[in-house]
Amino acid sequence: MASFDKADIEKLIDGVLPWPATQDMLKSSKDEDRFDKYVEIMQARVEFDDPILLPLTPDLYIVNDNGERVVKCTCGQSFGDYRVNWKLSALIYVRDDEEKMSQVYVGREMPDPSWLQLREYICPNCGRQHEVEAVPRGCPPDFEFLPDLDTFYSEWLGRPLPDTVAFEDKTLEKINSW
Ligand SMILES: [Zn+2]
Repeated sequence: MASFDKADIEKLIDGVLPWPATQDMLKSSKDEDRFDKYVEIMQARVEFDDPILLPLTPDLYIVNDNGERVVKCTCGQSFGDYRVNWKLSALIYVRDDEEKMSQVYVGREMPDPSWLQLREYICPNCGRQHEVEAVPRGCPPDFEFLPDLDTFYSEWLGRPLPDTVAFEDKTLEKINSW
């Protein structure tokens, strides 16, 4: 595959290709420079100065915030340690009855609200909706993506991060501390 230049990467991000294709491009890359260009573009778009370590979604990033690896929204709002499901720090709007469900299932078959609910995860600072999840009642929030940052930097990019942290899901630890 030909090397992507910055304009190509910018097009990918802007939705000429869907997000999975963007991730594919990064995964299949032998040209690690692509990742750097990609991060450079995103860094220019966000409203914070902490260096981006890895984009998670179009509006969520793992960043280096004074030595701590935390998840931040484009607006700069922190969602805490990246090893804790960021959804725990979001505002959550739950649609769990027919009236609330019918606002989004207009003209489509609505799931049965007695067993399924819709959860919208929203940034408490800027109001961006980061994720919508349709799950059975009582189901814990899905933790979609816990990347092994140290392996990514050392083995894929060939430049280990200056510090390493234990690669583990700390979500339950956080819940237990409540
Ligand atoms: Zn925000």
